[in-house]
Amino acid sequence: MPDVPFSCSCGGVTGTLAGISPTSGSHAQCHCDDCRRAIVWLGNADPGRDGVSYFQTTPDRVTFTKGQDSLAAFTWKSNKLLRWYAPCCNTPLFNTMSTPKISTASLLTTNANSSTLFGPVKTHGFVAKPNGKRGHVGLGRLIWAMLKRTTRARLTGTWRKTPFFRADGTPAAPVQALTHKDRAKARL
Ligand SMILES: [Zn+2]
Ligand SMILES: [Zn+2]
Repeated sequence: MPDVPFSCSCGGVTGTLAGISPTSGSHAQCHCDDCRRAIVWLGNADPGRDGVSYFQTTPDRVTFTKGQDSLAAFTWKSNKLLRWYAPCCNTPLFNTMSTPKISTASLLTTNANSSTLFGPVKTHGFVAKPNGKRGHVGLGRLIWAMLKRTTRARLTGTWRKTPFFRADGTPAAPVQALTHKDRAKARL
């Protein structure tokens, strides 16, 4: 199966997702404010109501070919989710969980050379509904796929193969925990 190259916007951080097809991950769009604000906090334009598109797969498929040492991460509201970015141009790149044992890596698909191999978006999170509430479309499908992938990674030991964590399980880069004050600056 083919690889999908990815890059930050200035080209300082590059890499590949290995062996990608629509079944090697989940193509999802998140419309929640946290995902939008995380992008705004990095100084990028608000993606708006369309939200942020991710391809969620396992970290053993992720290889950095350039700039890995420069990666930085922050947490936003929940310290269980790490948001990784390229500091050279403040491009948000991946989301992972805060422990390598839950084997997920979600690439922001705007960084991929092409999103054709990800297949169509099958999950929408936190979509605004006419009644003003938020709802999900196809979330069960994403959770089921994630559980299958993370369980397989635990059983086979491939969860240890990740560029985002050291062998002792600590994140490969310093993680900045953002405060309420920081978040307040990221207006939508
Ligand atoms: Zn979100
Ligand atoms: Zn860059």
